[in-house]
Amino acid sequence: METVVKTVRQHSLAVNNIKELKEITTAYTRVKNYVYSRYSGINSLLLLKNHRVTIRDEWIKSEFAKRWKLPARYWKTALDEAISNIKTEWTNTKRRVKLAVINNVNLSEDERKFVLYILKADSILYAILHNEEFSLPNKLQRLVIRKQYLYSLIKRYIRKYKGEIPYSYKTESFMIDNDMYDYKLIDNKLKMYIQGLKFGQRVEIELKDKNTHKGNLRILIKGNFIEIHKAKYIKVKEKLNVQAKTIGLDKGYRCLLATSENKFYGERLNDFLSKETERLNRINAERNKFWALMKKYEKEGNIKRAENIKKFNLGRIKYNRNKSKFDTQVKSYINREINRFITEDKPTEVVLEDLGFVSWNNKFPSNIKRKLSRWIKGYIKERLSYKCNLNNIEQCIVNAAYTSRVCHKCGSFGVRDNEVFTCTHCGRMDADYNASKNIEMRKYDRSICLYTPYRKVKEILEKRCSA
Ligand SMILES: [Zn+2]
Repeated sequence: METVVKTVRQHSLAVNNIKELKEITTAYTRVKNYVYSRYSGINSLLLLKNHRVTIRDEWIKSEFAKRWKLPARYWKTALDEAISNIKTEWTNTKRRVKLAVINNVNLSEDERKFVLYILKADSILYAILHNEEFSLPNKLQRLVIRKQYLYSLIKRYIRKYKGEIPYSYKTESFMIDNDMYDYKLIDNKLKMYIQGLKFGQRVEIELKDKNTHKGNLRILIKGNFIEIHKAKYIKVKEKLNVQAKTIGLDKGYRCLLATSENKFYGERLNDFLSKETERLNRINAERNKFWALMKKYEKEGNIKRAENIKKFNLGRIKYNRNKSKFDTQVKSYINREINRFITEDKPTEVVLEDLGFVSWNNKFPSNIKRKLSRWIKGYIKERLSYKCNLNNIEQCIVNAAYTSRVCHKCGSFGVRDNEVFTCTHCGRMDADYNASKNIEMRKYDRSICLYTPYRKVKEILEKRCSA
């Protein structure tokens, strides 16, 4: 049976010894940031695969690990977590390089094949990046390629597409494994005991409910409270629909989802976002006024009044509370509407644009772009994918190029003006519906595949029009 990962959250009452947990978080984050800065580069590429031997055991042998002033289990977990993030970064870099190679019209088929192979062979990649000797496997020796040109291309691409070195600025969470915590039920209250800073000492935490966990947990510090995150594997549900049904989806201009069946979900999303933007603008204007007033009092030497303004009018607590209230509302609205799409439309497969590569800049005017702050985009993508997995719905990702620019009926290039798409032959139609129809049809398009370059897609579409 297939499974999907779900994060289960649990809350504590106020923790007496929160100071110790905060110290652990700070030290834990220090380990992670050291690992990021030391092992993210190309020099460490070959150390990552077996880091428990190449890094962890070395730290123990050389007594380097002592500097963390953390129980071994903590720095080891921090090391594992950071290395796993560095590996993800490398995967992303290689994916970007792969895309650039596929889209590079100056390369021959053989040359593309060569670079794509190298991206999978770390030891050869390492040698190329360090100008070291290496021998090519037999199947690569047969390829007709410009070797030196490709080596410097690979170096250039890796430099270009390697993201910034990760860094945790906020020190607010750490991971613990199964042996670093246990539970006790005392006077009908569930208490959790987490490994403290000193060997054999544990920090007591009273929990709000009586759920106990096993395995790895993430501990997040929130003021005097903690939140516990547990990744749970849950079974994928039976298919809702026995008949195959494919639906194209567009992240709509005026709604959350527009479907190729001309239905719309999450039509109030933009409303939500505009209201919040207005509220934030209003609050910021107010805060600026108080800020100026405080500065004025400070200048006049009226420290007491300045302090009062800082305390009562410029505090972050209420501000943050309202912000998180809004986030929760938007999240539950998004989830509700995605659920409604799944239960009402009963798709067995959805066709989506590759949102990772879609430039939202072209798709939305600036006022909407601002509102769709980054986390919301990421959140929609993540929830949609999660709920599809959970409900056994296939996801087909297609090339996004020009899906909102051509008419789905006749294929001509048309004009998109906010919510309306106009085709000179077929007339006016809903722009989101038109895009979702095009997205659906991309699945069956034999000449436009996911990695067909943008320019090439345009050529193909123009050729079809004139034919
Ligand atoms: Zn048309």
